[in-house]
Amino acid sequence: MIDFTKSVSGRFIRYTQFDTMSDPSLAGKRRPTTEGQSVLQKALVRELEELGLDVTYGDTSVVHGILRANEKGALPVAFMAHVDTADDVMGNNVKAVRHSYQGGDIVLKGTVIRQSDNPDLEQCIGSEVITSDGTTLLGADDKAGVAEIMEAVSWLVSHPEIPHGDVEVFFTPDEETGRGMDMFPYDEMISKACYTMDGGREGEIETECFNAATCIVRIHGVSTHLGSARGRLVNALTAASAIASALPQAESPEATDQRYGYYHVGQITGTNVSARMEILIRDFSAGMFDFRLSALEELVRAVGRIYHAEIDFESEVSYRNMAQANDAHPEVIKALDEAAGKLGIKLESALIRGGTDGARMAEKAGIPCPNLFTGGHNYHSLEEWVSVSSMSVSVNMILAIIDSCRGKAE
Ligand SMILES: [Zn+2]
Repeated sequence: MIDFTKSVSGRFIRYTQFDTMSDPSLAGKRRPTTEGQSVLQKALVRELEELGLDVTYGDTSVVHGILRANEKGALPVAFMAHVDTADDVMGNNVKAVRHSYQGGDIVLKGTVIRQSDNPDLEQCIGSEVITSDGTTLLGADDKAGVAEIMEAVSWLVSHPEIPHGDVEVFFTPDEETGRGMDMFPYDEMISKACYTMDGGREGEIETECFNAATCIVRIHGVSTHLGSARGRLVNALTAASAIASALPQAESPEATDQRYGYYHVGQITGTNVSARMEILIRDFSAGMFDFRLSALEELVRAVGRIYHAEIDFESEVSYRNMAQANDAHPEVIKALDEAAGKLGIKLESALIRGGTDGARMAEKAGIPCPNLFTGGHNYHSLEEWVSVSSMSVSVNMILAIIDSCRGKAE
């Protein structure tokens, strides 16, 4: 394995100095939601151009670079990471701190990272860990991913003797607001496989996530003077609560884990005249997901009939379980196993009870897009930390995946 610890950690710390916290309140209104994200994206454009990649940026606010193949017969392959950081705790003004880790708790200005809460720290004894100063998050989610992809590309450029196919890189904004993939340049994309570098502990890969839909229910009641309402008033709120209470409590987020899916009433707003409900549906199985969608619609229609309320039902699929796209392209997971085998690391597959930008790509373009580890931990918190040696392993993993694509094109 090549030792990238020094270069990738230096690069990572440099990226953490960009203020790229995204703003969910501006999601869908402004892209990127915060100016700092485009500042980092433009810096990445310059770095990629200096390395000699073909780069496009511009209208989509997605950085897209292509490192052209230096040999024939390889499948093109893409890697993706997001430049924004979460706003759960302060994400700007990050002051990264290097720790030569010798065991025990890591005491910071604003907080303590306890070894007892972080069993993975054990493997870092004798190597380096990076944290914030404890007053902000660190931004390893996902600047560790950005740094690892940039490091791998720059290694290939400085070692032209290493043969490779076309390598694409994508740096998206606003992943944390859920809008990162809104204007993704699918028509420019040449790869049929993509890997998101946005995971956690070393060796962990995420190849399965929920199928997800948001359903909007609009209930139109009939209003009358309450004194003469008998037989005439149709209360939209009564119908809304009938829908909410008919959903099985055992199939709610608070009662499920692992592969169990659920219904979740996220919002009810309105008056007796008109009400609006937002109901989320999540399921790993495509069949159960479709069942939930149609069962909910039937329930809504039945309540409308029984309560004499007019009801509109709309549903939109947000993302799909990427396992479906992965299963259709088994070579994508095979490349992962091959790469890990070559590096002698053990991969562990984890489920995501949520979605990723990769899941959105799988939904929109049918392109499989598993999520790989970056070495980061405790995302979205003051206790966020990243293992420098795991970051180096991630860079090796990217290079090994690129290598495994050689000789695979028809
Ligand atoms: Zn992330």
